[in-house]
Amino acid sequence: MGTEDRIAELAKILNESSRIVFFGGAGVSTASGIPDFRSSDGLYSKKLSKHFTPEEAVSHSFFVRHTEEFYDFYKKNLVYPDAKPNDCHIALAKLEEMGKLTAVVTQNIDGLHQAAGSKVVYELHGSVLRNYCMKCHEFYDDKYVTGSEGIPTCKKCGGTVKPDVVLYEEGLDDSVISGAVRAISDADTLIIGGTSLIVYPAAGLIHYFKGKNLVLINKSKTSADSSADLVINDDIAMVMREALALM
Ligand SMILES: [Zn+2]
Repeated sequence: MGTEDRIAELAKILNESSRIVFFGGAGVSTASGIPDFRSSDGLYSKKLSKHFTPEEAVSHSFFVRHTEEFYDFYKKNLVYPDAKPNDCHIALAKLEEMGKLTAVVTQNIDGLHQAAGSKVVYELHGSVLRNYCMKCHEFYDDKYVTGSEGIPTCKKCGGTVKPDVVLYEEGLDDSVISGAVRAISDADTLIIGGTSLIVYPAAGLIHYFKGKNLVLINKSKTSADSSADLVINDDIAMVMREALALM
């Protein structure tokens, strides 16, 4: 089966489904020009004369010990205020509006699903659009953080502002997890897109799916391809746009 036939098959599945859940990874964001921070060079700190991997640079302990260096890396590699939703985000928002899609579960932190109009979005790793003072919990947006020199501090109390992003070594939010589990357990179709890494916590969540159609859309092959009902190895934005057009 060629890609065109597979997209036609996806359109048929979308037509027949009424409780679709989309589970998205970094590939959904890279289609909007947001690179995966894990593919960056990490961070070299002159002060500490030490190199840190991207994962180390966005860990909880690094944030606590080296807040200024954390923000150097964070502002450069994790926040993209000018990024726009792509055809994948737009198609998913449309499916929700049509009453076919019940939830988006995402590992991305850019808020682009909501920008496209999606209402039910479980952000497993939080969002760069939300930032809070660690002392008084005052809210700040992403532009406040990117526009600040060095460490962003609270206008009200001077406390350090921390992104509402789940850093390495931090636990996921219980209410987000339970919402995602509920949606996936209740889904008739689960589409996993833009991720080749079916690892924790994604793998754990996918086990809750007992519906009819498991669809994988990713540029390269994934370890879960053999367990899927339909696999499309192509650009996620193109696939979702074309499938929606065929419905
Ligand atoms: Zn404050």
